[in-house]
Amino acid sequence: MDGKIETVRAKVIECTECELSKTRTNSVPGKGNFKSDVVFVGEAPGRNEDLHGEPFVGIAGKKLSEALEEANVRREDVYITNIVKCRPPKNRVPKTSERDTCKQYLKQEISIIKPKIICILGNTAFNSLLGGSEITKHRGRMVRKEGQLYFITIHPAATIYNQELIKVLRSDIAKMFHLITEIKEGRDVQIDFDYPS
Ligand code: SF4
Repeated sequence: MDGKIETVRAKVIECTECELSKTRTNSVPGKGNFKSDVVFVGEAPGRNEDLHGEPFVGIAGKKLSEALEEANVRREDVYITNIVKCRPPKNRVPKTSERDTCKQYLKQEISIIKPKIICILGNTAFNSLLGGSEITKHRGRMVRKEGQLYFITIHPAATIYNQELIKVLRSDIAKMFHLITEIKEGRDVQIDFDYPS
């Protein structure tokens, strides 16, 4: 693993900078390929992630893995992380203060990996990274902010009890990897929204 990512990981494991450190079992640093073209960003660790210290290892993680498989992408080839690295009690949405304190780690992960696209998984990541809301209205879109491309889709947890949303997640992920291929081949891709700088 890259030394710089290893340093971020070690800092996350030791971190006690917000209240979530008091109730977690384990911190959950990002995991995956630090040379990935894409960084997936979810909301926060859940129960299974808290127990194992790894992101997206529960049912939602299985849904994400299935969507990746469908797009012919191996999970170990991408990088997966969350807005906050410690589980909020009873899986509540992380508070703004917690997100603000934890964002230093996500920033470091992104600056080391320099992904072509950041894939936003769900409303909390959408709100934290782009100030957005109503993910279902905006999903499937590519946007650009300060030179960084973002692809917006739903959180895999939303698909657990909804077969229709599984199709949505799968088609969004496939679309995003198609766009990454286009970018790597030097073709222009459609940007659905460009944030003013
Ligand atoms: S959520 Fe982030 S800021 Fe809070 S203790 Fe965990 S690693 Fe530190």
